[in-house]
Amino acid sequence: MTAVPEILRSLPGEAGWQEELYKHLHANPELSMQETETAAEITRRLEEHGYTTHQIGGGVVGVLENGPGKTVLFRADFDALPVKEETGLDYASTVTAEDAEGNTVPVMHACGHDMHVTTALGAAKSMAENKDAWSGTYLALFQPGEETAEGAQSMVDAGLVSQLPTPDVALSQHVLAAPEAGKVAITDGAALSTAVSVKITVYGKGSHGSMPHLGVDPVVLAAAIVTRLQTVVAREIAPGDFGVVTVGSLQAGSKANIIPDHAVLRINFRAYSEEIRQTLVDAVERIVRAECEAARSPREPEFEYSDRFPLTNNSTEVTDVVREALQAALGEENVLPMSPLTASEDFSVVPDAFGTPYCYWGFGGFTADQDAVPNHNPKFAPAIQPTMTTGTTAAVAAVMAFLAK
Ligand SMILES: [Zn+2]
Ligand SMILES: [Zn+2]
Repeated sequence: MTAVPEILRSLPGEAGWQEELYKHLHANPELSMQETETAAEITRRLEEHGYTTHQIGGGVVGVLENGPGKTVLFRADFDALPVKEETGLDYASTVTAEDAEGNTVPVMHACGHDMHVTTALGAAKSMAENKDAWSGTYLALFQPGEETAEGAQSMVDAGLVSQLPTPDVALSQHVLAAPEAGKVAITDGAALSTAVSVKITVYGKGSHGSMPHLGVDPVVLAAAIVTRLQTVVAREIAPGDFGVVTVGSLQAGSKANIIPDHAVLRINFRAYSEEIRQTLVDAVERIVRAECEAARSPREPEFEYSDRFPLTNNSTEVTDVVREALQAALGEENVLPMSPLTASEDFSVVPDAFGTPYCYWGFGGFTADQDAVPNHNPKFAPAIQPTMTTGTTAAVAAVMAFLAK
């Protein structure tokens, strides 16, 4: 029987085809919920390795049954972003696509999901080639549309839970600007924030700029709202708790001498608990309604919510097992504690649909001599190695911690 350390030692030998695939995916990114070519490529490769594949809600799940034992799900996301690539790489994307609003936009794997696909396929191949070393069922899940918080929900809505065996454990990882490439970072409890965005329209009454007394000025109303919203986190959230309220966009009017009849604010919320997120949302709605009343607004404000991301809350039990496996595989010095990230993910939608405990960790994408730019930056270009082999090793080590004989 092949031992786990032996399997892990064989993974650098996979770098050739993985790097080729990575460059291909990087040069051919697809926007959220449009990832047909990427899904087809993943399906083809999973089937080549002997997986039974299921196409569910735009995603792909490869199932590998290998006798009695636990069922482990490992998830990778595969969508790209509407970002114009500025990496200067010879495999840089020059792709454009039509977004959901019909605009032509540049497309780039600026969040490293191409790295996720490549490392997860590396793990899938390794699991298929080392079936004598483990027993149970391995679910290699590839999801679309992470960036828009649509993909995981789309798979659940399409019947994911009824089509697959219930996993005992769900795992996933993300390539990040920190820690350094070759290292991973992991925490139990809240790992990523819960998030939601809202578009708020507040109404005034249009008038000539020289006759403000005949109108209701939504510019002044919106300005008062923005200022007052700064008190929500400062005065309503306990000092030790985490919350963010950001007004990312404020639009009203078109000309200096016209008082417009409405203003639009776009606000983003982050928190490490659903309760605090709800407190933030309730406070903002209350303040907006009260400011509208104070301003003599002629119509109720309108609230349109979008981009809802759940909390990523790692199970302590699962995280303890994964951390130990990562330490054994990568060396203790390469497994760092992770501070909860203010970013958000829809990964937990999948395990939550099954009622399965999970762990989500980060792996480094940049070497010390590189400029480590954050995810979503047009210059986001992870060092292919040691990032890819580290990600693949982490995936196989974590999965094998639950499935090895
Ligand atoms: Zn992203
Ligand atoms: Zn991402």
